[in-house]
Amino acid sequence: MDFTEEQIHRYARHIILPEVGGIGQEKLLGSSVLVIGAGGLGSPVILYLAAAGVGTIGVVDDDDVELSNLQRQIIHATSRVGSAKVDSAARIVADVNPDVRLVPIRARLDKDNARAIIRDFQVVADGSDNFPTRFLVNDACRLEGKTLVSAAILRFDGQLATYKPGGPCYRCIYREPPPEGHIPTCSSAGVLGAIAGTMGAMQATEVLKELLGIGESLSGKLVIYDALSVTFRTVRVPRDPGCPLCGDHPTIADLSAHGSTANVCG
Ligand SMILES: [Zn+2]
Repeated sequence: MDFTEEQIHRYARHIILPEVGGIGQEKLLGSSVLVIGAGGLGSPVILYLAAAGVGTIGVVDDDDVELSNLQRQIIHATSRVGSAKVDSAARIVADVNPDVRLVPIRARLDKDNARAIIRDFQVVADGSDNFPTRFLVNDACRLEGKTLVSAAILRFDGQLATYKPGGPCYRCIYREPPPEGHIPTCSSAGVLGAIAGTMGAMQATEVLKELLGIGESLSGKLVIYDALSVTFRTVRVPRDPGCPLCGDHPTIADLSAHGSTANVCG
């Protein structure tokens, strides 16, 4: 592929990096990423991937923009309260980078559609805010052989991990979803909005690294951010041979055991 004059200017700061270069930029333009949730984490992920020239960005979300979203969901705007989040995301992406095709998927991910939706993309970035969705995305990605970069935020804390075929999965850390109502959510416990930016930007970085095949993958590790004490900890996460999904004797071969998923807000 030959870059246009405009693309050479647009991506100059990437192209000058030896680890990216023209070849890496071409790779990004030919890449596809599925972002689960156009919320707090999805906002910076979608923006940075679009700015980076990731050619196809799928966005799954069935919510409308609400006023209470705007404290952290920076892809949306006061003037778009009431419109579909995927449309709001598409508008800003079209403005940021005409090289990018945003595929709006206005749906709630569930056991019946998850694998078919994920199948069309190279890498998945999960920015959902609830355990049923995270388990569903983890299982669907593993069954489809996709790399998953997953982030989560709550109050003043954030987590980030990459789950790749061959490495540990989300179930190696958290075997089963916790009972409903036992886990605080952003809406019940709150979140400092800027934490979504910190974790979302790191999530976008890991997605770009996976697409480019550069640096050290976060697979097998978990990053834990504590904003109040300004500390990042990286802990190793081994694959669990007893994991029901990726262990030596897996018992999960499809998504049939998943129930309904809660709203994706992030
Ligand atoms: Zn596992």
